[in-house]
Amino acid sequence: MRNAILSLLLLIVNLVSAQDTYLQCGSIYDVSTGKMNTERTIIVSGSKIKRIENGFVSGTASDRTIDLKNRIVLPGLIDMHVHIEGEYNKGSYMKEFTQNEADIALESTVYAKKTLMAGFTTVRDLGGTGVNIALKKAINKGLVDGPRIFTSGMALATTGGHADPTNGRKRELMGDPGPKEGVVNSIDDAKKAVRQRYKNGADVIKITATGGVLSVAKSGNNPQFTLEEIQAITSTAKNYGFSVAAHAHGDEGMKLAILGGVNTIEHGSFMSEETMALMVENNCYLIPTISAGKQVAEKAKEPGFFPEVVARKALEIGPIHQSTMAKAYKKGVPMGFGTDAGVFPHGKNAIEFGYLLEAGIPVKESLKAATIINAQLLGMENELGKIEEGFTADIIAVEENPLKKVGTLENVSFVMKEGVVYKQ
Ligand SMILES: [Zn+2]
Repeated sequence: MRNAILSLLLLIVNLVSAQDTYLQCGSIYDVSTGKMNTERTIIVSGSKIKRIENGFVSGTASDRTIDLKNRIVLPGLIDMHVHIEGEYNKGSYMKEFTQNEADIALESTVYAKKTLMAGFTTVRDLGGTGVNIALKKAINKGLVDGPRIFTSGMALATTGGHADPTNGRKRELMGDPGPKEGVVNSIDDAKKAVRQRYKNGADVIKITATGGVLSVAKSGNNPQFTLEEIQAITSTAKNYGFSVAAHAHGDEGMKLAILGGVNTIEHGSFMSEETMALMVENNCYLIPTISAGKQVAEKAKEPGFFPEVVARKALEIGPIHQSTMAKAYKKGVPMGFGTDAGVFPHGKNAIEFGYLLEAGIPVKESLKAATIINAQLLGMENELGKIEEGFTADIIAVEENPLKKVGTLENVSFVMKEGVVYKQ
């Protein structure tokens, strides 16, 4: 009787301690060194990496073993620039008049899943309608399959600026959006807009420091905020623990953003050598989005894909992006990894690695950017971006050595996020 009780107790203890997952990995790619560690087993318990052992190890009968002996295993990838709510196509400019928030929400769940299945276990969403905040919550609750999201909610712009949500409309539909909607025209507006985002549940502040390609407005390059407005945004953001990401194509607006204290410059298309030096000096990170530049330049050639004013800017700005990234890398500008997915189809994020390689940026560097550096930029360097004991179990696998065949990153065959297997 006593023995029976003991074994029952033992069984309960085993059940409560829950099953661990043993990932038997042919090789683990070390993102810090670029080296392969062959024949290792990662032991995952709950959402965390419990330990890593040499050789192929199995647990007890109640544990689960996953065979990744023919794979290269990496930490889950992080994309610092996506727009998870939507995807551009020919009819996109009508969507704001035809879609309800529920339509956006349902579509966004599809994009979130595609992103996760492509091996991107974390993304930073840099602007949408605010549905992105609801999507983040649903994913965190485990209701929707998707990457971990850090989102800006709605981006900040000036009147008529790149993220003014009413650009290009006829006058009755333009209204006069203010800080709540992300339109800022003074220092007070700037403070209020940041505080509103805190109230809404955003994680990061995005500003559009210059014009942009896809807004229905004349210039893609002009500076749009004053230095004082940017400083009001960054200092208020600091109080609330936000970092600030600045969209910028033109050099002058970029300089103002860096001097104003932003943490990252997104795109950076026309960055001058002087501004590259300023980036280094201020430890401001550049987030390249070559994929988006290529896509808009390509689509601008299709008649009617974009409105005339947008097509013209796409042909001017799109093609320059890759060569600027090449120069910035040579000048030692600190760089993260981003794509602007949503401008091109979600789930294709990894094409950026090939474009970066074409620009002379080795895959070893871009993989480090897409893991360790991006995790640092998110303030998550002790939890994300590495396969190490105690880190969150975000783990992916590919078929070949990405340093030898970069395209393998576009075919991720295994995805685990927080210890849960989503693709195998
Ligand atoms: Zn963007």
